[in-house]
Amino acid sequence: MTDPILPRIRPAIAALAPYRQGKQAGPDAFKLSSNENPFEPLPSVAAALQHTTPINRYPDATAGRLRERLGVRYAVAPEQVHVAAGSVSILQQLVLATVSVGDEVVYAWRSFEAYPSLPLVAGGTGVQVPVTSDGRHDLDAMADAVTDRTRAVILCTPNNPTGPIITSDEFATFVERVPSDVLIILDEAYAEFVTAPGAVDGLAERVFERHPNVVVLRTFSKAYGLAGLRIGYAIGHEKVLDAARTTGIPLSVTSAAENAAIASLDAESELLERVAVIVERRTRLVEGLRTQGWDVPDSQANFIWLPTGDRTVEVAAAFASADLIVRPFPGDGIRISVGEEASVDRVLEVAATQL
Ligand SMILES: *Cc1c(COP(=O)(O)O)cnc(C)c1O
Repeated sequence: MTDPILPRIRPAIAALAPYRQGKQAGPDAFKLSSNENPFEPLPSVAAALQHTTPINRYPDATAGRLRERLGVRYAVAPEQVHVAAGSVSILQQLVLATVSVGDEVVYAWRSFEAYPSLPLVAGGTGVQVPVTSDGRHDLDAMADAVTDRTRAVILCTPNNPTGPIITSDEFATFVERVPSDVLIILDEAYAEFVTAPGAVDGLAERVFERHPNVVVLRTFSKAYGLAGLRIGYAIGHEKVLDAARTTGIPLSVTSAAENAAIASLDAESELLERVAVIVERRTRLVEGLRTQGWDVPDSQANFIWLPTGDRTVEVAAAFASADLIVRPFPGDGIRISVGEEASVDRVLEVAATQL
């Protein structure tokens, strides 16, 4: 049989690998491949899901109650808050709003798997700037990579998957070096897990006020444990966020997600206690692995990075046979989420056999 003739796909899209999700775990396995929160939802958050708009009705297109709430919390107008179905949606909206054919987006590499497709989908080009040997953004090299075609720069702190943060000082120096008409997206998906002094915190420092070209991204998926509901937000200049709202698909945020996000803000102190538990497990993992002799970068997120190089696939298979589903990046390393208590020792046991 000959292949059927299919519609012509844009070459930039055809060349991209389709998205592959972290492996699903069997009943006895720990799923440590997607940086999810291992804790069950809080009862108050689960209860909030019962009080949503009836499902035969569309949700509030503006997620007005949540934007109002976040506006109060960060002392900004609701117009300076944008809510979407995951902060990944906001990343795409911002890139579609700024990048035309031939334009460039600068980001660190290795960083978040979602970044490479963003400029390509918009018809632009990605410019990857290698992270340093200890997994940190090389901000001088990133500023050097900005050209008159650059429309956006994405910074990820703490960096997924390597773990280190960008400091406030590094960020301040970087922003001064980038032309003020270039969008800087500060992706802080793991901000709640940061304990290192000196880390940039785009919201606490209100960087978007001094620099209207900076948009800060946060998500309810990680520390707040709402990954399955798809909800994240951005804080920035109203006009920049209006452009993101224009490119976004309307009505993507369900009232279930909005209610759960508000209930999570109500229960924030309880959720942050869980974050502290994860941070303590992270510390045990990093210290345990370093004691074994692994060169693990300083993670400030809810995952750790094991530099396994050419042995990545083999080492990931050893974890899988111990019912630990991790995220291998062949030829480079393995990202392991900080999960359930019992997974900590099991990760250390397997890692000890793989040096
Ligand atoms: C998980 C993650 C996100 C957030 O994803 P959601 O779409 O909000 O679930 C954003 N950026 C990075 C770097 C991430 O790892």
